[in-house]
Parts: sequence; structure tokens; C-alpha cells
Amino acid sequence: MFIVSKKLLYIVSIVLLLFSATQLYSQDELNLYSARKEHLIKPLIELFEKETDIKVNLVTAKAAQLHQRILTESNNCIADVLLTTDAGNLWKADKANFFQSVNSEILNNRIDKKYRDEDNKWWGLSLRARIFVYNTKTVKKDELKGYKFLSDPIFKSRILIRSSGNIYNQSLIAHMIEKYGMNSTEIWAKGLVNNFARDPAGGDRDQIKAVAAGVGDIAIVNSYYFAKLISSEKKDNFRNLKVHFPKDEIMGTHLNISGAGVMKNAPNLNSAIRFIEFLSSDKAQKIYSYINYEYPVVNSVGIPDSLKKWGIFYEDNVFSSAYGRHGRLAIQIADRVGWN
Ligand code: FE
Repeated sequence: MFIVSKKLLYIVSIVLLLFSATQLYSQDELNLYSARKEHLIKPLIELFEKETDIKVNLVTAKAAQLHQRILTESNNCIADVLLTTDAGNLWKADKANFFQSVNSEILNNRIDKKYRDEDNKWWGLSLRARIFVYNTKTVKKDELKGYKFLSDPIFKSRILIRSSGNIYNQSLIAHMIEKYGMNSTEIWAKGLVNNFARDPAGGDRDQIKAVAAGVGDIAIVNSYYFAKLISSEKKDNFRNLKVHFPKDEIMGTHLNISGAGVMKNAPNLNSAIRFIEFLSSDKAQKIYSYINYEYPVVNSVGIPDSLKKWGIFYEDNVFSSAYGRHGRLAIQIADRVGWN
């Protein structure tokens, strides 16, 4: 009898030990919905996993698809963090009630108020300037001013820009509404469309290639696309192209963000906050800047030489949330002026 009990005790203690071991080793997780291309976000995820031992489950899709997916999944949505580009997309996600407010001293200290939601529901993590890339053989530097001047007839059939269906352009138009008002922005958009070198086609990269091929003289594109092309093995194709940071008396260079928010029903809340805090760390900010060629949101981490060469630009003091606020009006203007 005594022997059996001892054996039983032994088995029970082994089972208990195994159970507590699995408890100990059940790893923390993070469910990340990302609208950023996988190869851009992978180095950040790998570093985060290494530093925190939190396993990241990644779902990538286009911003609009993820938005729809979250709506469809509703209360069954297991996403902890939504990562996306453009303040317009973050604003839309917040209006759809996806995010919760986060009070993080780290994020408050590291991210300027201009680059985050005023209720701390989303946070800008990298910056991108919407710049002009021009052909130095056909455009003189002093011909270039702000965005507004590109509607002047001297630029007839010379401007390249992607479709207005893209959020980058919607946010640019929204920024112009904030600075110049509705009427003035609509007149500008009409003039710009009149100056198109061709009907909008392709992405930002395609506009730069079209300038290099002589289809038009000036492309309006996000800074990192050009930075990437001129550091690629095909850089010789772009040696006649240069960068101009738009600026006039009223508006400086349009700066947008990529960013993230913590989902309202995040099952792994601590991991979610830690992840966004990690993305604001020096190490992560350096990846944004030195690998993705975006401007870091924490500017003390520095930028690569290729970006330094372009010089410093004048940035507006507009809050990025304005891009979302005027987003609908921006689309209406684009429709009315026939910007496809
Ligand atoms: Fe992009």
C-alpha cells in the first residue's frame, strides 16, 4: 500500500513539473496586421523577436484589404497591432473604431505630436517626403517652387504623377486644402491635370522611370522610391535626375508618415505596446532610415549619406491628422477635375 502511494506521488509530481514547465515556456505572441510590404517589415520583426522573445504572427495585405478584413472579422479579430502607411489610412482606421488609446511614456517622449493622433490612438513611426524628381537636362532648378506652381501652363505636358485613387495623392491634396483652402486647391488640381504628360499609370517608381525615359520632366513621388532607385544597380539610368523639395510662401514639403495603432480588442496588449515602443527605438528607427530610406521619426538616429546629399527641407507645421480630416474632400476635388 505504502509503495503504491509513493509511486503515485512520484507520477503526480512529474506531471505537475511538466505542466508548470509548459506554462513557463508558453511564449508571448503578437498578431500583427501589416499593410507594409513583408520585406520592409521583416528586419524589424526579426530584431523584435530576438530582443523580446515575443513571437510575431504576421498577416500582410494592402491597406484597404486589411481594413475590410478587420471589419469582417469584427469581434473575432485577433489582431493586436495594425501597421500601415499614410496618416490618411491610420485616420480611417481610427474612425472605424479599430484602435484603443495607449498611454506610453516612451512613445510620448519619442514621437512628436505632429506625427501622432491627438488621443494617442496611432503613432507615426517613419516619415516620407512627397518630392519632385526632375530631369536636369530639361528643367532648371530655379523653375521649381512649391506644388502650387506646377499648375502653371509652362509645365504643359511635363508632369508625371500616379492616380488620385492612391492615398499618397489624396493626402497631398488634403494637405493643400488645409493650407490654401478648397477653391484654390481645386483650381490648382485642374491646372495640374492639364499639365500631365500622360494619363496617370503605375506607381511612384514608374513616374521616376518615365522621367528618365523622357516621357515627362517632373515626377511627384515619395522620397524613398528615388533613394532606392539611385542606390540600386540600375542607378546609372537615373544620373540625369535630381530632387527638389517643394516650397512656396504658403506651404512647405508634404511630409507623410507610416505608423501603427493598438487594436481595441488586442488579445496581447502588453506585446502590442512593446512592439510599437520598439519601433520607436534607435535600433528600429535606424532600419527605417538606413535600409528603407525613410526619414526616421526620431531624428537623432541620423540618415544615410544619399539622403543627406539632398539637403534639409522646409516642413510644414501641419498635423498629419489633417490629411485624414480632408481626405473625402480631396477625393471629390480629384474626381471633379478628372484626375483619374
Ligand atoms: Fe510607398
